[in-house]
Amino acid sequence: MRLEKITSPDQAIKLEEKHGAHNYHPLPVVLKRGEGVHVWDVEGKKYYDFLSAYSAVNQGHCHPKIVKAMTDQASTLALTSRAFYNDVLGPFEKYATEYFKYDKLLPMNTGAEAVETAIKITRKWAYEKKGVAEHEAQIIVCENNFHGRTTTVISFSNDENARKNFGPYTPGFIKIPYDDIEALENALKDNENVAGFLVEPIQGEAGVYTPADDYMKKVKALCKKHNVLFIADEIQTGIARTGALLAVCGNCTCEGHCERQETYSRPDLLILGKALSGGNYPVSAVLADDEIMNVIKPGQHGSTFGGNPIAAAVAFAALEVVKDEKLAQNARKLGKLFRDELNKYIEKSGIVKLVRGRGLLNAIVINEPEESTTAWDMCMALKENGLLAKPTHGNIIRFAPPLVMNEEELMDCVQIIIKTLKTFEK
Ligand SMILES: *Cc1c(COP(=O)(O)O)cnc(C)c1O
Repeated sequence: MRLEKITSPDQAIKLEEKHGAHNYHPLPVVLKRGEGVHVWDVEGKKYYDFLSAYSAVNQGHCHPKIVKAMTDQASTLALTSRAFYNDVLGPFEKYATEYFKYDKLLPMNTGAEAVETAIKITRKWAYEKKGVAEHEAQIIVCENNFHGRTTTVISFSNDENARKNFGPYTPGFIKIPYDDIEALENALKDNENVAGFLVEPIQGEAGVYTPADDYMKKVKALCKKHNVLFIADEIQTGIARTGALLAVCGNCTCEGHCERQETYSRPDLLILGKALSGGNYPVSAVLADDEIMNVIKPGQHGSTFGGNPIAAAVAFAALEVVKDEKLAQNARKLGKLFRDELNKYIEKSGIVKLVRGRGLLNAIVINEPEESTTAWDMCMALKENGLLAKPTHGNIIRFAPPLVMNEEELMDCVQIIIKTLKTFEK
């Protein structure tokens, strides 16, 4: 038997409708090929990808170096489980810990798993190092966070869609407003049971909500003062997306990962996923120094696929590409151009309120209520005009192209976006 051959978008959509769970609401486009900043649908129409699989494909679709690393390793050794050593994981861990400047890395597969891992490490650290009484540890999180879809992670979401009827919820989380240092200070004050503060340096799913420039610095200082772990979820913002290797690097303009104290707010726990593999394979990781990571001992945490040879080979190649092709610098330069160009249009626009973001993680906010369908309608029109993007809310569209884009392509995209938005002006 052969897999049914798809010859029309309708056919593919109907199959998913009938045989797949309805847990997503995709834009009605059926893709069959990708290369660099472009994807093609089953009818051969070419699009710019302005979502990059939620910032997983920072290195561009089917990057030849990453694909080669993946296929070479896949035909050599794919999976051993961690019951045995393999000859790729150790070298990758050495490389990645030097790259991000941490003592140790714990490999997992998906982002949500890495967040779960960080939560477990944080709690264990609280009991064994900080001296919090058993079962009393609390982790501070932010309103409108997005950290994944597991039962524990959705327990501290405030998105009703993500939470409702999935309870009972995991206790031990305190929610505070994002980008509000006073709220953090109050939550930390007189509470010895706080183990950590889990935060996104920019809230991607919330609509690329970009905090004050000094927010991360102040977060870092407060966490240090109160002896709680600063846990940065850089699954979406990390690996060059925001114009620096990590969003916690702020506006540092170095070529790779330095530790310039004036800009860099070093997390105690760094959570990576998505572009850690260039979108080619599920790879995620938590990085930390020994005094924190060493609370995890054999048998206390794990994953059958975490740290498998393919994942290690792919992630190594994906990180090399980021450095070799100077993707952070490119994201910084093109991001500024993108916002400058859109701002020229927005000044005269009645329908678009603002553009915000850093590097090539940006969003526009539309002059409509949050429950409006305008953002969806705009994405449908953008699709017709050859550019794929997705709303994060009824009135917000995220723009996050692969970072391998060049200036000419970006200007082409700016033209498409402005031309399309103009048709919605009243
Ligand atoms: C995508 C994302 C996750 C979850 O990653 P999955 O691989 O989908 O489990 C967690 N945190 C942030 C900030 C993300 O963007």
